[in-house]
Formats: sequence, structure tokens, C-alpha cells
Amino acid sequence: MQYQWYPGHMTKAKRQMQEDIKLVDLVIELVDARVPVSSHNPDIDEIGKSKSRLVLLNKADLADESKNQAWCEYYKSRGMYAVRLDARNRAGMKEVQNVIQEACKEKLERNRRRGILNRPVRAMVAGIPNVGKSTFINSFAGKACTKTGNKPGVTKGKQWIRLNKNVELLDTPGILWPKFEDQTIGLHLAFIGSIKDELLNRDEMAVELVKELLSQYPGVLAARYDLLESADPTEVFSYIAKNRNCLKKGGELDHAKAAALLLEEFRSGRLGRITIETPSLETIG
Ligand code: GDP
Repeated sequence: MQYQWYPGHMTKAKRQMQEDIKLVDLVIELVDARVPVSSHNPDIDEIGKSKSRLVLLNKADLADESKNQAWCEYYKSRGMYAVRLDARNRAGMKEVQNVIQEACKEKLERNRRRGILNRPVRAMVAGIPNVGKSTFINSFAGKACTKTGNKPGVTKGKQWIRLNKNVELLDTPGILWPKFEDQTIGLHLAFIGSIKDELLNRDEMAVELVKELLSQYPGVLAARYDLLESADPTEVFSYIAKNRNCLKKGGELDHAKAAALLLEEFRSGRLGRITIETPSLETIG
């Protein structure tokens, strides 16, 4: 399977981030909690290297809670702050506010020592497409916040959202394009629907997802689709098609329909809360 982005977009987005990063103290990176490795572009580590870092494990409502916790520990062990989140839910925003304060403590303290009392810390949201950046900014900023316009010394056109007296957020998120260092990354992003299905062979993808689920969450497919025991992903996929009556006119199995159904059930959480990527020695790298 091949995945491609238009290189012009990538270059432009990266350049924009390299400019914007100069304006902020903190980078708030969203990753998808189901695939935190594949939804992270390592360029951000270089671009944001002198900044405080907060990772939001977003769509945590669709991910395995024990793995959410493991990932939070992992980020903390690497000197970053981490919060698991459902960006659609405003209830989680208080915790994010608190962690931002914590992450910027030193900066605020330094300002205070220098007699600078009214300068808020500035943060920028970043992440790959579809990870929930706009949803997060909307929930987080809410209606109560005031937008501050251009200010002298600030790049023209930048809008800042004042969250409270201590924090301002750049209202345009930084777009990181996925980095397809290997096939697995593309595949995992396809599982969660971050890559348009039309670009891929859906049947192949569905069989790969079955393979992953059989190894990481044995029992989930059997329970949902009332399956016979089998370790062969292609066979299991055919059982799913049969169980859901995915048939063509002549009566043969409609694999395309079954693939669409399985992917949709996985993406919407109907198969349960599932995390495909787990922190391990390989990911820690
Ligand atoms: P962006 O491209 O990064 O700005 O992503 P969007 O904010 O447009 O979100 C992409 C999709 O993910 C939308 O359909 C959102 O409703 C959905 N979404 C965002 N955050 C969450 C979350 O935490 N949980 C779930 N289940 N869906 C989310």
C-alpha cells in the first residue's frame, strides 16, 4: 500500500510552524490515544525542543484505559506533561488548564522575579490532521474567552485566545503531516480513519485489522460477531462477512461491504475501547 501527501502542503505547514513556534512558550501536541506513535510526527521534537511540552492523548474515550495510563507514564518519563482527553467534552478542560499552569510554572516564576507580572504564557496547539485540534480549541476556549487581536511586535494576523490571565493560545493550530517512516504507520492511521479509505485497499486493511485484534484483543471479535475459533485472519474476516450477511447478489461474500462495516465498528468504538500501539522498548527507542 502506498500513501502520499502533496509535498507543497507539507513544506508550507512546517515552515508556518517554525515561525509560530518562536511566539510560544508551550507546545500542546495532540496525538490519537489509539495510535500515539503513528499519530506523532517526530519533527515536533526538533521544532519544539526548547519549549515546554504537553501531550494530549486525545480520543481517549475510544482507547483502552489501562494503555492510556501507560502512555501518560511514558510521556512523563520523557520530561513531558500528558493528559488523556475527550476533546468534545468540556469537563476535561479544567485538568488541562491546571497542567498548563504546572508546565509553565518556571516561566511564570522567572517573569515574576524579573518584575514582569502581567505577561501570560503563550501556547500553540499542534497535531496531524483529524486528531481533534479544532475540537479541542473550541472546547477549551469556550465562549467565555476573548480573542485578542494583533499586537505590536507580534506577527501580523496572529490571533490569540486569552484563556485566563496567565495563558494565551494561538488560535490557528500547527499542522503536522504524518510521517510514513514505515508501512505500519500508514496502516495504523488508516485503521483510525485518518487516511481516506479510497486511497487504500479496504479488504486488505480489514484483514490487517483482524490480525491486530486477534493478537492484541483476543475474544473481542469472537464476542461481537459470534465467531468460530480461528487464528487465520482471512478466515475470521470471512466469518464476519457471513455473520453480518454481507452477500453479493449471487450469494457470494461481499468483502468490500464487510470491510466497511468492520472498520466503521472499530472507529466508532463499537468493538470496545481499543489501543493498537502500546508503549514498549521499541517505541521508547
Ligand atoms: P483537526 O483536523 O485536528 O482539527 O480535527 P477535528 O477537531 O476536526 O476533529 C476530527 C474529528 O474527530 C471530528 O469528527 C471530531 O468530532 C472528532 N473528535 C475530536 N476529538 C474527539 C475525542 O476526543 N473523542 C472522539 N470520540 N472524537 C473526537
